[in-house]
Amino acid sequence: MGEAFKLIMIMCATIDLVFAFRVFLGSNRKQPDNIYFVVYAIMGAIWCVCFGLIPSQTDPEIAFRLRSFGLVGTFGTFISAIFLFSCWVDTKPVFKMLFKGYGIAGLMILPSIARRDSATFVVTDFGMSYNFTPNLGNTLYNIYDVGVMLIFLFFIINLMGTRRRKREHRIGAGVLAVLIAMASGGVLDTLMPLLGYLAFPGSTIMQFVATVEVRIILFFVNRGRPTVPNVSRQLFETLNFPVLAYDNRKQLALVSEKAEEMLGLGHRIGSVVPLDDIFELNDNPLNTIQKYLVLESEILETGVRVNLEVSVMRDRFGDIDGYIVIIHDMSEHFRIMEKLNIERIKAEDASRAKTTFLANMSHEIRTPINTVLGMNEMIRRESTAENIRGYAGYIKNAGDALLSIINDILDFSKVEAGMMEIVNEKYSLRNLLIGLIEMFSLRSQEKGLDFRIVVDESLPDGLYGDEIRIRQIMINLLSNAVKYTQLGGVTFSLKKVSEEGGEVRLWFMVSDTGIGVKPEDINSLFSSFTRVDGEQTHHIEGTGLGLSIVRELTRLMNAELKVDSVYGEGSSFSFIISQKVTNTEPIGAMNDPKALLKMTVGETHKSFKAPSARLLVVDDNTMNLAVIVGLLKVTKVQLDTATSGAECLELIRNTHYDIIFLDHMMPVMDGMETFRHIREMGPEENRSWGAPVIILTANAIHGAKEQYLEAGFDGYLTKPVQSELLEDMIVKHLPESLLEADEGEESVDEQAQEQEASEEAVLRDALSAYGINLDKGLEYLKNTEIYRASAETFVLGADEFLANLKKFRDEQNVEEYRILIHGLKTNARTLGHEQLYEYALSQETACKEGRFEDVMKDGDKPETLFAAFRNGLAEALGLDSGTPDEGELAPITPEEITDKLGGILNALEDFDSDAALEIMGELRRSLIPDDLREKLDEAYRLCRGYEYDGVAAIIQEYMS
Ligand code: ADP
Repeated sequence: MGEAFKLIMIMCATIDLVFAFRVFLGSNRKQPDNIYFVVYAIMGAIWCVCFGLIPSQTDPEIAFRLRSFGLVGTFGTFISAIFLFSCWVDTKPVFKMLFKGYGIAGLMILPSIARRDSATFVVTDFGMSYNFTPNLGNTLYNIYDVGVMLIFLFFIINLMGTRRRKREHRIGAGVLAVLIAMASGGVLDTLMPLLGYLAFPGSTIMQFVATVEVRIILFFVNRGRPTVPNVSRQLFETLNFPVLAYDNRKQLALVSEKAEEMLGLGHRIGSVVPLDDIFELNDNPLNTIQKYLVLESEILETGVRVNLEVSVMRDRFGDIDGYIVIIHDMSEHFRIMEKLNIERIKAEDASRAKTTFLANMSHEIRTPINTVLGMNEMIRRESTAENIRGYAGYIKNAGDALLSIINDILDFSKVEAGMMEIVNEKYSLRNLLIGLIEMFSLRSQEKGLDFRIVVDESLPDGLYGDEIRIRQIMINLLSNAVKYTQLGGVTFSLKKVSEEGGEVRLWFMVSDTGIGVKPEDINSLFSSFTRVDGEQTHHIEGTGLGLSIVRELTRLMNAELKVDSVYGEGSSFSFIISQKVTNTEPIGAMNDPKALLKMTVGETHKSFKAPSARLLVVDDNTMNLAVIVGLLKVTKVQLDTATSGAECLELIRNTHYDIIFLDHMMPVMDGMETFRHIREMGPEENRSWGAPVIILTANAIHGAKEQYLEAGFDGYLTKPVQSELLEDMIVKHLPESLLEADEGEESVDEQAQEQEASEEAVLRDALSAYGINLDKGLEYLKNTEIYRASAETFVLGADEFLANLKKFRDEQNVEEYRILIHGLKTNARTLGHEQLYEYALSQETACKEGRFEDVMKDGDKPETLFAAFRNGLAEALGLDSGTPDEGELAPITPEEITDKLGGILNALEDFDSDAALEIMGELRRSLIPDDLREKLDEAYRLCRGYEYDGVAAIIQEYMS
């Protein structure tokens, strides 16, 4: 019997130890109850083993030792149980301390009850047992036992209290079960010997039962705790996104709630569910994945777009344990993206509209201003009448101011679009300064201001930087200084901060004794379109853009614009920039503006003649050709023109040009493409090989200059072309040997001028009868001569245009139709027929917007309108609008014809188009063969377009 009991108890002790180990290794050891339980279980094991071995003993001595040692387990069990349960109750810390103190104090009884004489060992049927010897120790021990039970009772009452959670009630019930088990065991073996019966080791068995119960409570407690597995489980259950987990055999193991909602796979747990069965994938990524991958896909059944985040779980040997698939529902993301995209497109459209508006504005405003300034420049040069030159001077000033405002607005648009760039080139500091000093000496002189120049004369002259932008900054600062100063003066200082490693750091400062800026206004100085101190400044012209552009430009040059100002006393603006030095020669004295002025005043820029230079201008727009031809007339250069890229390429094959001016926007082959072809041609195919190519463009915004220079153009001129810039460009690029100094101005016949004015008045009236506004036309075409020429060109070509218009419409060739109507539209506007322009524009727009049916609806209306326009022009200009009647033609001999054709060739050699046209007119009024008439029509048209080579080719071909 004793043997059986021994075995059972050893088993119980083992289980106790297993519990202890499991909890020690598998639970959170930072939680004290886990540690108390480990102690509790070990103590229980000692109790089980020691008391379990007693019945099988025969020697009372050994039984006594086992009991004594077992009592350690007994006390240990009680004490650790008090500690353990204290963790779960919610009572005052002082009570807990008292209970724990009571438990530990019990140890004091241990020596007395563990004494040899406190129990008498006897052998019974059951095996070795013992009786308590009645003494104080044993009595105290029993009282201690009861005390412990009462403490447990307290815990139970505390845990079962009405205000505690269900969870605590469960724990309380568990502790009650422990109490019952321990008490019933105690009844068996503590009370029985006390009553004189032999001790039956009931508490040994029951304490094991209690340990199992405590383990269960602990398990319950731990399960409700935020441990890693618990938190993981909780997370998994409450996951806001779908997750699937697969085991290592690729069988579906877990489906999170959201995954279930999204895919409904719960019923397939335990079976192999390849990912490519669920999602739009080429194959199952679980077959190839090594560690982690992200895939874009969509759910086959619903089409919902998802991102799959697949990762592999590996064990510590590196073998695959399973796979986790996190599914990100991207539909919202894509919806937002789509919305953003729409917003972006809208914003881009708006920005593009702004850019287009600015580009158009640059074209629409700069072109006429330039025409005005170009023509005005011609008046300034050619007129001898002092008062006329005076008026022209005013026009120049106002025009320049207008251009500068437009340029400011365009620059500002560049800044806004982040497209403002710095383009570094070699420049002469001296020249830059002379220009500035010249400009501002005059301006300050006019305003009665002192202009002081404090420039270090040892500064190197040759620098590398963006001269244009530095000039722009300085013009802005100096203009402001002069503008906002009424009394006193303006000082311009330029000093060297340092010079090393081929770089010089320059300190620029502009100070004035003007109105100054209030401290609170300093920051708003740089806000675009903002002007400060309205009271003082409202009468002074300005846009409020200058300083914001200046600040941006200095920033681009890695400099900081500093402002120092005392309200009512004056301001100073300064910045420091670094420039590479290319020539160390000093700039020399700069501080005597009068001396400098003498060198430059009255000589706006260098005039020249270059009769041996041959230039080519390529532009599809004859008006632009006319402007350039007109502006360059005084320079006597030989000017050829071409109206298309292809023609340009043809010309350079056989002719050497010193400079080629190339328009950007041309139909079929634009300037860029033409330029590429020019560059691709080798010296053997291109007689103008190596000639500088200057691009002409109305597109004055968005880093256009940089773009062209990057593309390899040698220069860049914005349209409307400024005659000075045009001439400077020629001087810059023409070999010096071809340049001749301009000896003086040619006098202009005043009588001829008057005659021209009266002719203009007659023409204005005649045209207005046909709804054509000559003045509108002259905005583009400058003078009646060019107007006549363009109108004649138009009248000559009109039949062909109109026939083609009909042809393209009948063929529904939208693209060709669009190009043609676009050209006719420009013709109408150029010649001053605004209504016809509007009509053609509406047709062009219809083509662009794919509404060709609207064009078709109008039938031959465009031809009718344009034919009426052509006839009106012809009538008003006294032109032949078709082939003259035979009866009206003068007889002519073949010799005379040959003579006249020779005359045309001679006139062309002198670039005298007027004479050539005159002779052609005579021939056309004579009885000439039909084939010659046809050729002459063509030649006449070409001559009007300044395409002299084409004319010569036709005549020569006919003559041969
Ligand atoms: P604008 O001169 O066209 O108004 P700016 O951007 O050049 O625009 O200058 C912004 C404002 O800063 C001006 O309106 C003026 O009030 C103030 N300001 C600029 N320079 C000076 C100066 N030298 N002295 C006093 N005020 C100035």
